[in-house]
Amino acid sequence: MRRPIPHALLLLAALPVMLIAQVPTGRGQVVSRPGANLTPEFPPPTITEYHPKSTLIVPEHLVPRAKYPTVDFHGHPPKLTSKAVIDTVVAAMDRLNLAVIVNAPAGSGAQLTQQIDAVKAAGQSNRFTMFTSLNLAGVGPGSGQKIAAQLEADVKAGATGIGEIMKSFGISAKKADGSRLRLDDHELDPVWAMAAKLKIPVFIHVADPAPFWEAIDYNNERWLELSLYRDRRYQDRDRFPSFEELMAERDSLFAHNPKTTFVIAHLGWHAQDLARLGRMFDRYPNLYSEVGAVLYDLGRQPRTAHNFLVKYQDRVLFGKDSFQPDEYPYYWRVFETEDEYFDYYRDYHAFWKMYGLGLPDSVLRKLYYGNAVKIIPGLPKAGLPH
Ligand SMILES: [Zn+2]
Repeated sequence: MRRPIPHALLLLAALPVMLIAQVPTGRGQVVSRPGANLTPEFPPPTITEYHPKSTLIVPEHLVPRAKYPTVDFHGHPPKLTSKAVIDTVVAAMDRLNLAVIVNAPAGSGAQLTQQIDAVKAAGQSNRFTMFTSLNLAGVGPGSGQKIAAQLEADVKAGATGIGEIMKSFGISAKKADGSRLRLDDHELDPVWAMAAKLKIPVFIHVADPAPFWEAIDYNNERWLELSLYRDRRYQDRDRFPSFEELMAERDSLFAHNPKTTFVIAHLGWHAQDLARLGRMFDRYPNLYSEVGAVLYDLGRQPRTAHNFLVKYQDRVLFGKDSFQPDEYPYYWRVFETEDEYFDYYRDYHAFWKMYGLGLPDSVLRKLYYGNAVKIIPGLPKAGLPH
């Protein structure tokens, strides 16, 4: 039995719709606020000038040292060629509880062995492991076999993985015939097969954040970064493939080499859409990822990121990217605490604040070292829990 609805109630129900209809959509504001027609009396500050001091008072837990010995899978330490440099890096690592840095990449051939030897001579072989790099310039018929042979030699010399393969692969690297080298070019199949045979991971950075391909306007989250860095602008379709073209080639690379372990850098640039990365993990059992330089996206979605890292706790590794010792504690704080609304370290990555994910200890252990132990058979383990 339906009762007649009083007219007044019908009017009330329609009210929000009427209000919504009055304001432009997509601006995050559904109801015109009182005084919306006012303009600021003082000249508005620019994006680089406005730094309001937060008045929020909540518990703070700074985390200068990681809770567990940690492997930095995405390490870019300075060139490890002298004892003085190596000792300085190790001193910083000790303060942060970084057990091992993956030097990614240490280089190939003599560059690689020089650093392996220097680290050994400094008595620090337990603190570093070296990944080799691939020469992907001018790939043509026969290149795959040649690169695979160099890879085998580098691993024999002590390399424990490949990479970081840089973003130029896919975006700009050219083949001998002048065409763009696609990520899934079959000429490179012998290289990925060799990695599988040697049981070493392939650490690969593909593309860049998707907003770098979008219009540089005031709706672009990375406006400041794009304005600061000319070489991060990929809007020109005559010069660069689209973001989704690169994603498709990347996924085809993972699909066609199921025996090769791949670690996609920077959460695959899907940290702002973790469900997409989750679908990739489901589809490609040979795929792992790391969190280098995308903390700003995890820290703005503490519940989603927490649940994601719990669900995929066997697939994500800790990585930092640039070696700046005072930035690591921001990572520890986001992963380990439940702190709220705290600063991030780089304004052009994020104009928002961070929230702690409060990850359980069992997940932290895998993120910090367990998954690295699992996928890098040659990783030095002396400083890691058993
Ligand atoms: Zn890197």
